[in-house]
Amino acid sequence: MNPPRSAILPGQWLGMLGGGQLGRMFCHAAQAMGYRVAVLDPATESPAGSVADLHIVADYDDRDALAELADLCAAVTTEFENVPAASLEFLAATRPVAPDAKAVGIAQDRMAEKAFISSQGVPVAPYAEIQTAADLDTASASLYPAILKSARLGYDGKGQARVKTADEAKAAFASFGNVPCVLEAMLALKYEISIVVARGFDGQSVSYPASENEHRDGILAVSTVPSPNVSPALVARATEAARTIAAGLDYHGVLCVEFFVLEGDRLVVNEMAPRPHNSGHFSIDACVASQFEQQVRAMAGLPLGSTDVLAPSVMLNVLGDVWFKGADEAAPDATADVATEPAWAKVLAVPTAKLHLYGKADARRARKMGHITCLGSSTDEAAAAAARVAGVLG
Ligand code: ADP
Ligand code: MG
Repeated sequence: MNPPRSAILPGQWLGMLGGGQLGRMFCHAAQAMGYRVAVLDPATESPAGSVADLHIVADYDDRDALAELADLCAAVTTEFENVPAASLEFLAATRPVAPDAKAVGIAQDRMAEKAFISSQGVPVAPYAEIQTAADLDTASASLYPAILKSARLGYDGKGQARVKTADEAKAAFASFGNVPCVLEAMLALKYEISIVVARGFDGQSVSYPASENEHRDGILAVSTVPSPNVSPALVARATEAARTIAAGLDYHGVLCVEFFVLEGDRLVVNEMAPRPHNSGHFSIDACVASQFEQQVRAMAGLPLGSTDVLAPSVMLNVLGDVWFKGADEAAPDATADVATEPAWAKVLAVPTAKLHLYGKADARRARKMGHITCLGSSTDEAAAAAARVAGVLG
C-alpha cells in the first residue's frame, strides 16, 4: 500500500466505505478537524450517509461509484470488514487505502484470521476448519462443547450455534446452508478484554488501555476502562500481542483485537476487527484522541494522537430493545411491538453520562442504536453513574 506522498491536510476529502455508526463517528471526528467526508453506502438513509459531506448511494462493488470516490478523496478507509477486497484493491490503484485489502481480507474470514494470528505466535481458541459436513466426523471430540461459527459475515453473535455433539454441529452446519465454518472449543472465560491499536504508514503504533467487555447474547453490552480486574501485566501482554498482529499485517489504520482471559490469566485471541470497534467508543469522551481521530490521522499520513485516558469510563450500549421496555410492561402478552422513545431526559440528568445516538430510523431488538459513556474520577464512580443510567433504561 502506497502512503500518501505528503500528509493529507484538513480541507481535503476523505473517503469512507460503509454508512453505519462507525462511519458516522468517523465523519464527526474528521469534520471536527476540518476534513470533508464522502461516504459510499447502498442505503439511501444511513447513520453516516446523513452526516457526510457527500453520500454516494451505490453498491460496494460499483466501479463507477468507486472511481467517483477515488477521484474526489485523497485517501479511503472502511468501517465495515465485509467490504469486497476487490473494491479496496481497485481504489488502491489510485489512492492510499487504509487498511488494505489483504488485512481486511484476513479479518473477514475466521479461518484466515485464526491461521494468521497463530502464525504470529499468538494463541487462539482450539478450533477445526469445517468445509463440509464430513469434516465434522473427523474434528476432535475434545472441541465439544463447542461453538460453530460461519467463517464469513457473522457479527453480534449471528451465524453462531452452541453445540454439544457432532450431531448437533451437523444440524447447525446444515441450518447455516453448509457454508464454511470454524468449530471452536467453548472456553471457560474469566472475562473478555480488547485492545485498540492505531498504526501509521510509517509503522509507528499507539494503543489504548485494555477495555473489559461484558457481552449479553453475543452482543457487547458494557465496556469498562480501566477495569480493576485487569492487571497491568495482563494489559502489557495483550498490548504486545495486538501490536504483533498489527505489525505482522503491516497494518495501516485502527485495529481492534478481542481477547478471552482464561484461568491463570491465560490469554487467547477471539477475533480482530480492521476498523474502530464498539469497545473503543470510550475513547471519544475519555481520551485525548478518539479511535476515530486516529483513523483519520493514520489514513492522512499524520502523526498519531495521544491515547492517554483523561477519565475512567463505563460505556453502555443502547440496543433497540430499550424502545420496547415500556410496551412490554404495559402489555406483557401483546404480540404487537410498540416502540416508545426511551427517557433521554432522565439519562441526561446523570451529569457525567455522554449520550451518543446513531440516527437510525427504526428501533429493532438487538440493533445497536447508540451508546452512553459514563465518566467518573474513578472506575467505581463511573460505574455508579452507569448504574443510574441503566436504571433509567431498564
Ligand atoms: P461476533 O463476530 O459476533 O462478535 P464472536 O466470535 O466475538 O462473534 O462471539 C461473540 C461472543 O460470544 C464473544 O464475545 C464471547 O462472549 C462468546 N464466545 C465466542 N466464542 C466463544 C468461545 N470459544 N468460548 C466462550 N465464549 C465464546
Ligand atoms: Mg466479537
